[in-house]
Amino acid sequence: VDDLTLSDYVKRSKDRILGSLVDWLTIPSISADPAHAGDVGASAEFCADLLRSAGIQNVETLSAGGVPAVYGDWLGAGSMAPTVLVYGHHDVQPVDPLDEWTSPPFEPVVEGGRLLARGASDDKGQVMMQIEAARGLLGALGHLPVNLKFLIEGEEEVGSPHLDELLDKDRGRLAADVIVVSDSNMLAPDLPTTTISTRGLVAFDVTIRTAKSDLHSGIWGGTVPNAALVAARLAASLHDSDHRVTVPGFYQRVRELTRQEAQSLADTPFDEIEFCRQAGVKELVGEAGRSPYERTGTRPTAEVVGLHSGYGGPGMKTIVPATANLKIAARLVPEQSTEEVEASFCQWLSEQAPSYAEVSVKTVGGVAPLLTPIDHPAVRILCEAMENVWGKKPLFTRSGGSGPEEGLGRILEAPVIFLGVGLPEDNYHAPNERLELEQLWKGITAAGELVLGLRAVKDN
Ligand SMILES: [Zn+2]
Repeated sequence: VDDLTLSDYVKRSKDRILGSLVDWLTIPSISADPAHAGDVGASAEFCADLLRSAGIQNVETLSAGGVPAVYGDWLGAGSMAPTVLVYGHHDVQPVDPLDEWTSPPFEPVVEGGRLLARGASDDKGQVMMQIEAARGLLGALGHLPVNLKFLIEGEEEVGSPHLDELLDKDRGRLAADVIVVSDSNMLAPDLPTTTISTRGLVAFDVTIRTAKSDLHSGIWGGTVPNAALVAARLAASLHDSDHRVTVPGFYQRVRELTRQEAQSLADTPFDEIEFCRQAGVKELVGEAGRSPYERTGTRPTAEVVGLHSGYGGPGMKTIVPATANLKIAARLVPEQSTEEVEASFCQWLSEQAPSYAEVSVKTVGGVAPLLTPIDHPAVRILCEAMENVWGKKPLFTRSGGSGPEEGLGRILEAPVIFLGVGLPEDNYHAPNERLELEQLWKGITAAGELVLGLRAVKDN
């Protein structure tokens, strides 16, 4: 494809872009580890310099109490033109187990067209893609047809604890007509896909007590309640034999797919044997009558993530356990709300728990699900940009995970679209994270096409 605005720019800039990305990737910006706070700061400064050198203005670091995010904008298109906010992050996941890396995580190497380093695809490479698209367009055209803003977070890998506050505080400066997220993947290099939804998340930490302390099983066993048994019964009754969640009302607000969404999902190839191999499981289980992609992206789940009670040490101990802990995490889909699911779960729990057990629940977290309407003009423009570069219309996928995108859309009141060029085999969050360089080059061209296309987003 040679008639795309940035294809020549990308061809002659590969060495420089790669060199610059490699320099950035040597900074171990691990947000989860306080010992690396200085590195996250250095990574923010590096990102700020990248933005400035690309022609982005008003660059500064923003913080709402945590490690810094980087902001910058180019507002030369005027108030009548649309405004686009690009979101990504510059912090990275921890690197252990270190001995599984084939080369040190912060000494990037290129092997067989892939760049290996922590952060290569999640997310410094994808942020670089967006910054280079802006640099290329500003260099070629001297201006942009839209106002462009960047928000590059430094705490995404620890759950974005200050992002909502930061968005709220700087709502005016961050205001946009469209939010473009580049922190996601497509299913394969020859199978362009775009995410249209992320799931919500709410979790419950359930404590069960049936006696003051553990009791001798010879003296008391057979007459007193057993906390381990209560927890096991609760865990076992969370799903029916069709693997459907039994909490009344759990599925009530789940929105059925539109025809276009269902078609896109049906057209997405799925290799069950490979899926099982990657997960290391013998076979798949899950909600009856739903395909695996439906179950991971479009249906809510409630997983038992922990079940602890009694004696787990070597050998045996003859007790009746007095306490148990049960942890359950629910992934939510549009239009479920964390509050309603919490209320239904607590009601279910109080009905299920026997009268002899003291049961208390602590709700942990609470992220709402996000859904981008696929008939929004920004989605159509994104699909055209991707088709121009990858030669195929992208399919729509729903991410099973939960992320900061929901807060971006909710607080800034704008649709969120996903231009992500990571691949499933990029080893996100795992040893040997990598970035397929061809995806980066195509991504820069596509990001440029997208910015040009979005000039029309308000006219539709
Ligand atoms: Zn990420």
